[in-house]
Amino acid sequence: MHTGVEYKSQNRTYGVANPGYMPAAEGGPAMFAPPAAGLQGPTAPPASMYFDSVPGYEGTVAGGGGGFLPPPMPAYPAPQPEPGPEQPHWNIPSISEDTAREAFALFASSKCCYSSAPAKDGVITSMEAFNTYRYRLETFTESRSTEWSHKPYNGQPVDAYSQSPPGPWDIPAQAPSFFLDGQQIIKVPYTSSVKSCHVCVGMGRKPCKDCAGAGNKVCWVCNGSGYRHGDDRCHHCSGRGRENCSHCQGQGSKQCDTCRGKQQLLVYINLTVKWTNNSDNYVVEQSSGLQVDNLSKVSGKELFRDSQYMVYPVMGFPDPTVVNASQRIVNEHQGKYSQTSRILQQRQTIELIPVTKVTYSWKGKSHIYFVYGNEFKVNADNYPATCCCAVM
Ligand SMILES: [Zn+2]
Ligand SMILES: [Zn+2]
Ligand SMILES: [Zn+2]
Repeated sequence: MHTGVEYKSQNRTYGVANPGYMPAAEGGPAMFAPPAAGLQGPTAPPASMYFDSVPGYEGTVAGGGGGFLPPPMPAYPAPQPEPGPEQPHWNIPSISEDTAREAFALFASSKCCYSSAPAKDGVITSMEAFNTYRYRLETFTESRSTEWSHKPYNGQPVDAYSQSPPGPWDIPAQAPSFFLDGQQIIKVPYTSSVKSCHVCVGMGRKPCKDCAGAGNKVCWVCNGSGYRHGDDRCHHCSGRGRENCSHCQGQGSKQCDTCRGKQQLLVYINLTVKWTNNSDNYVVEQSSGLQVDNLSKVSGKELFRDSQYMVYPVMGFPDPTVVNASQRIVNEHQGKYSQTSRILQQRQTIELIPVTKVTYSWKGKSHIYFVYGNEFKVNADNYPATCCCAVM
C-alpha cells in the first residue's frame, strides 16, 4: 500500500515569514490530517481591546447591529401639536349600476376559467352601500446608530485624537423628502486610526483553507496512493500522491481579504442615519360581509389630510371610532418613536373607501359580489360558474 509519505513539504511557503502560520506537522503522516480548525487563522482580539474608546461613542461595537443612539433631550421646548384645519363636509359617494356591472364583467374575464355568463346575464336586484373610513397615521422618523468599521489602509488621512469627534446627533445629515425611507452612512470625523490587521495579525496573508496551508492536496486521480491499476504510476501527480492546491497556486496561503494584503487597516466609526416612515391604519368595521383585509389593497377618497411636525388627534369627525382610533394611534406613535428616534414629521389622513354590495340573480338563484375602492376592485368568493365546463 502506497501512502504517499515520501512526499516532502518543502514547498510550503507563505510569502512572508510567519511562524505562527506554519502547520503543526513537518512532513510525516500528520500532514494528511483534515484541515484543523486552528488553521483557519488567528482569532481576532476582543473588540473591546482592539478598538479605542472614543468620547461620545463608548457603546459602539464592531460588526452589524451597531450601538443604537437615543436622541438627546431637545435643548429647546418641542413644538406643541396644533389642532388640525377646519373639518370638511363628509359626503358619501356611491357607484352606479353600470359601474358595478362593468367592474364585475372585468373581474370575470380576468379569471381564466371563470365563465362570463353570470357577469353578462345576471340581473342586479339590489345595491347597498357599506362605505367605510380608513384612518392612517404616518410618523416619519430619523434614527442613528454607530459601529466600528475598517478598510485596507492605503495612506488615508488619520485624524483620531486630533480633536474630539462631534456628537452623533450633531453630525449633519441630508434627510430625503418627508415620508420616504432612506439611509445615509457617514464616517465620523476624528475617529480614524491605523491598526495592524486583526484577521491576518498584520501578515497580509492567511493560510489557504482548501489545503489547510499545505499548498498541496491528496491527488484526486489516485486518491493519494501514487499508483493506478496496480503498478502504473499515477500520471496526474507523477506518483507523488499529492497535487498542488489550485486555490493558492501551491503557496499554502492567500492574500488576506480584510486588508487586501496591506497588513494595516484604517479603523474608524461609521454613523448610520436611517429615515423610516412608520404607518398604522384603522379601518372602521362594516357589516357587508367583505373581509376587511381586502381593503388594504385599494385606495379611497381622501377626506382629510393633516401634516405637521406633530399632529393633534382628529376632532369632530362624525364617526366616533375614528376619533378614538386617532387618539390611540397618535399617542402610541408619539410614545413609541420619540424614545428611540427623532420624529421629523407626522401625517394623518382619513379616506372614505366605497364598498358596494351587489345582489344579482342568475339562473333563478340569488348571488352577491362586492365592488370596493377607487379602483372598483371586485370580490366574488361565491362566483356561480368558476369553471367553464360547469356552465352547460
Ligand atoms: Zn495521483
Ligand atoms: Zn491551498
Ligand atoms: Zn489582513
